[in-house]
Amino acid sequence: MKIKIKFTRILVIKIFSVLILIATGCLLMANAACAITLGVFPVILSLAFFTACFAFWIYDEAKQKNKRLKSYIPTFAIILLGCIAYAIWFTPPPAALITTGRYGHGTPEENETVDAILGEARAKERFELYFQWFNVLHETGHCIVWFNGGSRPQIVDEEQLVNDFAVAFWTYYGEEEKLGDLRLTVAQALDNIGRPPDKYANHLEYARDNWGKSGFFTFRNYGWFQFSCVNGSLGDIKPLESVLAEMGVANVSVRPKRTLAYPAIGEGAAAEIIGDAVAILREWGATIPAVYHTFDDNPNNHMIQIKRNVFGSMDRSYILAIAEQ
Ligand SMILES: [Zn+2]
Repeated sequence: MKIKIKFTRILVIKIFSVLILIATGCLLMANAACAITLGVFPVILSLAFFTACFAFWIYDEAKQKNKRLKSYIPTFAIILLGCIAYAIWFTPPPAALITTGRYGHGTPEENETVDAILGEARAKERFELYFQWFNVLHETGHCIVWFNGGSRPQIVDEEQLVNDFAVAFWTYYGEEEKLGDLRLTVAQALDNIGRPPDKYANHLEYARDNWGKSGFFTFRNYGWFQFSCVNGSLGDIKPLESVLAEMGVANVSVRPKRTLAYPAIGEGAAAEIIGDAVAILREWGATIPAVYHTFDDNPNNHMIQIKRNVFGSMDRSYILAIAEQ
């Protein structure tokens, strides 16, 4: 049986409406999930276009079925209100949320692995130095890459780049003692983990081949990759200005060298460190949105996400490390 589709004016409009709605949805999801700052206008334009098509659709259907246009008003109003609410939801500017895992709050196995890798006796101190001091800069680095116009590198290369950045930043602003401890922490961790299969020439090749595969994102495997990146960065320290330029920051403005001293590194210091670093990095020319910080009990969970502070929801749930510029 042959199905003949007659492309009437109304069918074209219907197809068009659905396509526009799908495109708007994708646009909104991209806006929410990534650092893409599309602004409100494309979203409003797309929704307005969809509403116009939909109005026409309803008008035509009412005419065909000989129904009164008034009977469609509730449906139309619900859809229109839904679209407006959806647009409002995505209107606030994007903000970054840095999550750091907590030492000793994971499952017994997770805690044991952390201790075994970081060296039993000083594991807590090393964990906090690495994650609440060094790694928050690593996460901030991702945010700089996403918000500063340059093209995004391949995911594994981005990890190496943001570690180069974090090392460059702390070499410029960090206390010497902490940098020394960082070197020891990384060296000890790499020693304790040992090497993944010999078939990989280096950590970048290993990560490219295993990214996303099961078992990759564990403290041991992903840790080996990250510690190897940091080890590489520490072995070839780049000037902060050149790393920032590589991350897409246009017109890097070199600021005077000074030391940011934090006598007590730990969970209480993470948000303060992020706030201080972001304020300085904005002076260097980097565009960075508001940054929030939160903790996760899983010691493996260290990440940065882009979210929207809808009706102050982020202010209620997380610590504001630094507001929007
Ligand atoms: Zn990363």
